[in-house]
Amino acid sequence: MPLLGCIADDFTGATDLASTLVRNGMRTVQVIGAPAPGDPVPDADAIIVALKSRTAPVAQAVSESLAALDWLKSAGCAQFFFKYCSTFDSTDEGNIGPVADALVAALGCGFALACPAFPVNGRSIYMGHLFVGNVLLNESGMQNHPLTPMTDANLVRVLGRQTSGTVGLVPFATVEQGAVATRRAMTALKEQGHRYAITDAVTDANLRAIGEAAESHALLTGGSGIAIGLPENFRRAGKLAVQANPGALPDIAGHAAVLAGSCSRATLFQIGRAREVVPTLQLDALATPDAAALAQQALAWADGKLGAVPVLIAASAPPEQVAALQAKLGREAAGTLIETAMAAIAEGLVARGVRNLVVAGGETSGAVAMKLGVRSLRIGAEIDPGVPWTLAEGSGPTMKLALKSGNFGAPDFFLKAFASTGAA
Ligand code: ADP
Repeated sequence: MPLLGCIADDFTGATDLASTLVRNGMRTVQVIGAPAPGDPVPDADAIIVALKSRTAPVAQAVSESLAALDWLKSAGCAQFFFKYCSTFDSTDEGNIGPVADALVAALGCGFALACPAFPVNGRSIYMGHLFVGNVLLNESGMQNHPLTPMTDANLVRVLGRQTSGTVGLVPFATVEQGAVATRRAMTALKEQGHRYAITDAVTDANLRAIGEAAESHALLTGGSGIAIGLPENFRRAGKLAVQANPGALPDIAGHAAVLAGSCSRATLFQIGRAREVVPTLQLDALATPDAAALAQQALAWADGKLGAVPVLIAASAPPEQVAALQAKLGREAAGTLIETAMAAIAEGLVARGVRNLVVAGGETSGAVAMKLGVRSLRIGAEIDPGVPWTLAEGSGPTMKLALKSGNFGAPDFFLKAFASTGAA
């Protein structure tokens, strides 16, 4: 039976959390959207329901989060975790406060800590103020975010504006003293009537102490970082065995392919590196501005090339070519054209026996996963930080999928991916 039930407010954040849990010893499955009541419960120590609720209307974010909670409760989870971005992406209307309020009410726990700190990614909290690297959140560029501009780094105030409850602080000096002092401080804040405690954290040791202090909490809220302290609680309580390889995935026989729809610098480098080694097709959407025709070209090209060595099909292009396509079609239509083509190509490749697939690009990954009918991802070992191989299950055949956010990964990412799976 799963121990930890997580609700993530976006897809890549969910995968990031999943990788963190696997690295710390929990077998983890990410499901896409809240499963229907009665849907089978994956065999895992932690289950993450990935929502797309970060910038959804408040009422929708709340109702989807409560549906996820209900399902995780019925799946038998003992503790719950609301995962949001380590830069606390939200507005004065929500969605972090209203969703957390609804979860606190539904669980009847009255209190939850709030800690988006993620020191390895440069997110630290001191005296309730969130820093990104060595600058305050509101000077980090996040003040200009198109959807969730963060103009105040003081999280006690920020969360205070989003909740009907009040927000206290567990300061760094207390967290530094360890789990016992932190637990006492949180209990005191709860007794004073606070609904939340922004919890300072500057180091991973702080996060582990906070995790230990929150052992008996029904609900935690925060970024992926705070999850590093949770698996140890379950092991200490004898509920979680020490596992040699919590990210073990079976080998899946089948062909290998890479689909690149990201135009980020990292992905362009990765394509450049892979192009020297594996058969590579560069799609030309400017010459063929038609998704079905592009997909047909790509699949015709792939026929006869699929086999032991992965093939790479890329729409990715440098900025001037992207601008040219956008000038011709409009920004949104250009994106939709490529995403539609990539999704159709993915479907065609799977029909041709591809079972090990890497997709580069956040939006591209979403389009491909949806087209392939993926419902859940069992999280395997990381290829590079933040990008694990996963075992994808859903309406199509079970397969290995690695979904890479555009900017992630080292230059040899695509080659490394297949070296580690043994597919190529
Ligand atoms: P990232 O993770 O790097 O942001 P995404 O897949 O989220 O990557 O976004 C990249 C967007 O660029 C997608 O909508 C994709 O369809 C689009 N795109 C890809 N190639 C081209 C191109 N050659 N011209 C215009 N848009 C493109």
